[in-house]
This record gives sequence, structure tokens and C-alpha cells, in this order.
Amino acid sequence: MTENEHAAARLLTVREKIAAAAALAQREVEDITLIAVSKTHDADTILPLLNAGQRVFGENRVQETAAKWPALREELPDVQLHLVGSLQSNKAGDAVSLFDCIHSLDRPSLVKSLAGAMDKAGRRIPCFIQVDIGDEEQKGGCAIADLPALIEQARVADIPLAGLMCVPPAGIEPTPFFALLDKLAADHGLDGLSMGMSGDFETAVKLGATHVRVGTALFGARE
Ligand SMILES: *Cc1c(COP(=O)(O)O)cnc(C)c1O
Repeated sequence: MTENEHAAARLLTVREKIAAAAALAQREVEDITLIAVSKTHDADTILPLLNAGQRVFGENRVQETAAKWPALREELPDVQLHLVGSLQSNKAGDAVSLFDCIHSLDRPSLVKSLAGAMDKAGRRIPCFIQVDIGDEEQKGGCAIADLPALIEQARVADIPLAGLMCVPPAGIEPTPFFALLDKLAADHGLDGLSMGMSGDFETAVKLGATHVRVGTALFGARE
């Protein structure tokens, strides 16, 4: 198989699994966005997936994205980039100009810097609020108890809220965490749910994910 055929086959497999999980949950497959998480992979690895028709990609670092993507997306105006990694306030300006969506809004200081950066750029991009769904010390995300206040702050700052995002604790059954994120979103009138990675995206789709973030299953293992 050529690199292009290989990428197309992996993409088809992931898409079929999403479609099967959606059908089981009686959901429309169009309501689920597959984000191909291309962090650490270079242009040679990403191009075959672009050739296979994938247009929505995720990255976790502002600098890496700035180095990699402007050239790749030059002739593909329909490429969409999602930031799926933690964001430092001093990089908010770069993030707003590079990305089409941010999945890691998790604290009041970032609401402030992102709102300022969006004002400055004259461009408002949708943000998911990342929730520390497993109450894990070192993990990014807003504590569940702080979520109502953070949502309110984002709304006051006129940041378009896409929904909630989570990365459940590693190594245990993710279902209760996905179900909890779904409930929290519903409680706050938010529609989007960014949840599910290579190991658990089918479960996430069954539990209502609108955005799944898949890296390894599309690109192979990272270094
Ligand atoms: C790396 C990453 C992913 C993709 O993980 P895989 O297990 O490779 O699919 C998804 N979400 C976030 C936040 C990530 O950092």
C-alpha cells in the first residue's frame, strides 16, 4: 500500500466505527465531527490524510502549529484547526489567529486574554470549556464546582461557547465521565461535547460526543 492508500484506509475505518456507534445510539453521523489530532506528526504524515479528504485537524501546541500549518493549508481554505492542548494566556493572540476552535478554555484569566485577543483580531472563535471531569490534580480543566462561574464569565466576555470538553482519567472505564460531561452541558444549555480519543471514541459517540479527537488510530503511534 502507498502512504495515501494507508491513510485513506485508516480514515475509512475510523469513520465506519463512528457511523456504527452513531447508528446504535440513533444519532446522525453528520452531527459528529472527527478531529484528526496531528500533534508531533510532520507534513509528510499529514498530507496523505489531507489527500484522503480529511479537513479538520487538532494540534496541542501553538508554536508547532505556526511552524507546520500555514504552508499545509495555503491551498486548502476549508481546513479547520482545533487547539486541543492547554493554552498559556500570553499565547492567546497567536491561538486566535491560527485556530478555528479552542477546546481548552479552563480558567478566568484565559477568558480575559482570549476575549482581549478576539477583540483585537476582530474575530470570535468558538471555545469549549475543558472540565477536570475526574477531579485529577495535575490535569488541565476547570473544577466541576467552578464551571457555572466560568461559563458565566465567558458569556459576559462574549466568547462563543461551543460546549464542554474532557479527558477522562486514564486506565478506567470512561462511560461515567462521558455521561457526567453530557449532563453538565445539558444543565447549562450547551450543545457541544468534545470527548473521545483513539481508545474510546466509539463509547463517546454512544454517549453524545459531537467532536471526537482521534490521533493514534489515524496516524499511528507518536514518538
Ligand atoms: C493527543 C490528544 C488526543 C488524541 O489522542 P489519541 O489517543 O492519539 O487518539 C486527543 N485529545 C487530546 C486533548 C490530546 O492531547
